[in-house]
Amino acid sequence: MIKLVLVMLLGWVGFALFKKILNPGTSQTMNTKSGEKIVLCSVCDTHIPESDVVIKNGKTFCSKEHSEQE
Ligand SMILES: [Zn+2]
Repeated sequence: MIKLVLVMLLGWVGFALFKKILNPGTSQTMNTKSGEKIVLCSVCDTHIPESDVVIKNGKTFCSKEHSEQE
């Protein structure tokens, strides 16, 4: 019985690793079609392309208004 659990666990770990190899880094950062990075606004959690982002005190915001809210 323990052997079966071990085999299942190994299979699951192998599957997780396999998925990671196929889609590296997809859970952390997203990319637009042009290859641009997408970041989250610290106030409203909106996804914004890196080129449109407002950075203040090391945080990212979707607009000037939101950067002034923090
Ligand atoms: Zn915002």
